[in-house]
Amino acid sequence: MKFATFVHEGTERAGVCIKGSYFLLRDLLGEEMSLLDFIRAHENAPLPEFNETISHKKIAPVETDSILAPIPLPPRNVICLGKNYEDHAKEVKETIQATQNEALIPTSPIFFTKSACPAPGDGATIPLHAHFTQKVDYEAELAIIIGKTTYRATRKDAKSAIFGYTILNDITARDIQTRHAQWFFGKSLDGFCPMGPHIVTRDEIGFPPALKISCRVNGEPRQSSCTSNLIFDIPEIIATLSQGITLLPGDIIATGTPAGIGHAMKPPQYLQNGDKVECEIEKIGILTNHFAV
Ligand code: MG
Repeated sequence: MKFATFVHEGTERAGVCIKGSYFLLRDLLGEEMSLLDFIRAHENAPLPEFNETISHKKIAPVETDSILAPIPLPPRNVICLGKNYEDHAKEVKETIQATQNEALIPTSPIFFTKSACPAPGDGATIPLHAHFTQKVDYEAELAIIIGKTTYRATRKDAKSAIFGYTILNDITARDIQTRHAQWFFGKSLDGFCPMGPHIVTRDEIGFPPALKISCRVNGEPRQSSCTSNLIFDIPEIIATLSQGITLLPGDIIATGTPAGIGHAMKPPQYLQNGDKVECEIEKIGILTNHFAV
């Protein structure tokens, strides 16, 4: 099942997307509910059979004015993994951290967080903050949406902790990332965490997910990999994090990006005014964003 948050008749609404048509959760459930509230409410309950409800109650699809991030205001920062694809770890070593004496391939997952307040949705235009950075870059990533309160999970527990998956572009100002010697600031500028277009529930995707992931800038292929290439896979990520942090329904974990960032191109290619970036993951869709000064 695909869930989305969108603007309908000028108001933010949550709904399901079935064969390209959007249905309001309000019509399906009989009460208004955000997608985050819906995820929380179904922490320990099976998801409703919406197809039956739609045909039984003759519920009509609605028009959408625009698609928002599935969870526009995440309850806390998005948890991210750094250098979680080997080919990306190599290009980072060669460019961003050439002077640092670090292991090429991490021996434990590298975690950091980024702000998404709010997270832009599919189709949104993202500011380049040109007064502050000249090195804005993209990172296509598979993001996990946690569905269940999870503490001290084993690898076997990980699947049941997941509500679903979406696409996240971990946009990064490389000059700020380098100047301030950590990852939070350069990755948390306003608008730098677009997500969407939908959350696809875990039952529609094998586990662990082995999905083609790619990124294009103005139609030019830049990143192309498979989520099966993660160094630390999703069971490992959830098992490790939850040893000390209780994961909560609605938490978002971005699993890392493969090689092909603009910063590692020769010469480097940063995002420019008018650029269009498409992040695509098989079975989930395409997250498209435009960039403007
Ligand atoms: Mg990233």
